[in-house]
Amino acid sequence: MKKIIFISVTVMLLSTIGCKDNSMKTLNLNDLDTSVNPKDDFYDFACGGWMKNHPLTDEYARYGSFDAVAEMTREQCKTIVLDLAKNTNKNEGLKKKIGIVYNLAMDTATRNVEGYDPIKDDLAAIEKISTHEEIFAKWLELNNVGISPFIAYYVAPDESNSKMNLFQFYQAGIGMPDRDYYLLDDLHNVEIREAYINYIKTLFTLCDYSAEVVADKAKQIMEIETALAKAMYSRVELRDPVKNFNKKNIDELQKLCPQINWKEFLSSLSPEGVTITDVSVGQVPFLETVGTLFKETNVETLKTYFEWNLIRAAAGSLSDDFANAQFEFYGKKIQGKKEITPLWKRAMNAVDGVMGEGLGEIYVQKYFPASSKERMLELVNNLITTMGSRFDSNSWMSDETKVRAKEKLSTILVKIGYPDKWRDYSALEINENESYWRNMLRSNIFDINYMMSKVNKEVDRDEWHMSPQTVNAYYNPTTNEICFPAGILQPPFFYADGDDAINYGAIGVVIGHELTHGFDDQGRQYDKDGNLNDWWGDGDEDKFNERAQKVIDRFDGIIVIDSMRANGRFTLGENIADNGGLNISYNAFENIKAARPQKSIGGYTPEQRFFLAYAAVWASNIRDEEIRHRTMTDPHALGRWRVNGTLPNVEPFVKAWDIKEGDGMWLSLDKRALIW
Ligand SMILES: [Zn+2]
Repeated sequence: MKKIIFISVTVMLLSTIGCKDNSMKTLNLNDLDTSVNPKDDFYDFACGGWMKNHPLTDEYARYGSFDAVAEMTREQCKTIVLDLAKNTNKNEGLKKKIGIVYNLAMDTATRNVEGYDPIKDDLAAIEKISTHEEIFAKWLELNNVGISPFIAYYVAPDESNSKMNLFQFYQAGIGMPDRDYYLLDDLHNVEIREAYINYIKTLFTLCDYSAEVVADKAKQIMEIETALAKAMYSRVELRDPVKNFNKKNIDELQKLCPQINWKEFLSSLSPEGVTITDVSVGQVPFLETVGTLFKETNVETLKTYFEWNLIRAAAGSLSDDFANAQFEFYGKKIQGKKEITPLWKRAMNAVDGVMGEGLGEIYVQKYFPASSKERMLELVNNLITTMGSRFDSNSWMSDETKVRAKEKLSTILVKIGYPDKWRDYSALEINENESYWRNMLRSNIFDINYMMSKVNKEVDRDEWHMSPQTVNAYYNPTTNEICFPAGILQPPFFYADGDDAINYGAIGVVIGHELTHGFDDQGRQYDKDGNLNDWWGDGDEDKFNERAQKVIDRFDGIIVIDSMRANGRFTLGENIADNGGLNISYNAFENIKAARPQKSIGGYTPEQRFFLAYAAVWASNIRDEEIRHRTMTDPHALGRWRVNGTLPNVEPFVKAWDIKEGDGMWLSLDKRALIW
């Protein structure tokens, strides 16, 4: 629920970007498919060899060079964790806890004997409830252990006073990945809904409920979740920061949604001595619906919905029957995977989820060379300087807006590799004699306490929102920072000994991408301090929108599968970031060429290799189901379209590959978008 923007994965407003053989110093020409004409289909030309050499294995819905780096990094982390897991008796503190969490996650034998025992008492406690007051108390209890029926909450910078942290609500409470799965009536989504109903029935059956009761429960749950889905904003609406930031004091909140005792709700989450007086309600119509639903739904149905929230949250930490059912729905049905992720990888994900930054502290000591940080700093500085001159020479912004844009650019905080100070895990209780699920709950509680300790306090701009081993990067508009964890500083993103053409084409574009997020359709609405504040001069916004519309139109015109189209508005921020990243990084590359002459390698000019390196980052194979799933839920365009959708806009690309009218990669001049 944070406002960050990634390269490839998504966590609310964090805006991101989306790896291979560590020893690689240059592009691997076997990744190309030279039987394809680059002028017609650059993606298939640049990535075709890679795609043939990396067929999808059963555990993957999509596997790209991005995922390959993540795999390699996970293998590195595994050597660390396996060693800790063998020595839990010798180790203390963080190392001991990491070892125990891994062992607990691997121990399916115990879990298969336990069945649903770890949640039995909790289900019985819900079963005993008979009044609305009691169910409200249960809601508060669940909120405190990281299970959030109806609505989620988080603590993040106040977008009207970004130096301070504010308690914020966010629409939630549904079990399928997007509201559209509940609302669309095409055959595909009707089938998914049926599969979801079966999933609900399977999990309740595993908790010993009778077939009749289970069918009734599934019906009640679908009713509540569908009502929530109907009240939710679409993913396009969620991209409007002004519409989604609604600060209210407690009286206003109570008036807006009188059915819930908000004072009690908030005080149950507040740390000792702290009173929450202001919140952002996030999505106003959604909050109103939650009030009505809670008030008007009978206690029995609410109990079922809360039971479901508990069972659904615990499923991945219970027996194989639960985990397999979870895979059947989310992995197989939604994403098209053929096989559940191997247990050891799920265990590594658990360690990452519980103590990601702790594991990262050990990881960077072993695997991250200090020299990488120096080279990255040089690249980042060159990119920032280039972006600044591009603002100066920009043909459509007014002078006053240019000054503010440059101010914002110069105050971006740059984070590379790993944090200067590490998170303290000493208050996290991990107990090897208790169930895996109980330990996961305690991790939730530890994280909630940590998050809630920040409420109404000053924002710590030094805090990291990704662990160092993550293969990704982000821009965070409310702190105006860009972050490149150690994980992404590997080929094919970053070649420690590689030449400039490939480093500017890959990690250079990633840096440009993150910088551009500060000036995309969302980011541009925040000022240099991270406040939602319109700093744009008269008429500049219209000129921005006119250019952005071309990006929207281009992607709206792309058929991703069957009759399904890409969503130009939903992917706008990411596509603007790719477009800007390419132009800025190419410009920076040209600037250094004078001082460091570049040479052709393997028959390709430095300029051509820049674009081959860019495409290599997005090489991937993907299943049809995953194309649909990502098009509905991922603000990033699919790998193929990050290449073939965006490159035809980029003049240096057209020049380097001599693209002419009539070629597949040709886009007429009036349709080309150049924003940054
Ligand atoms: Zn991004």
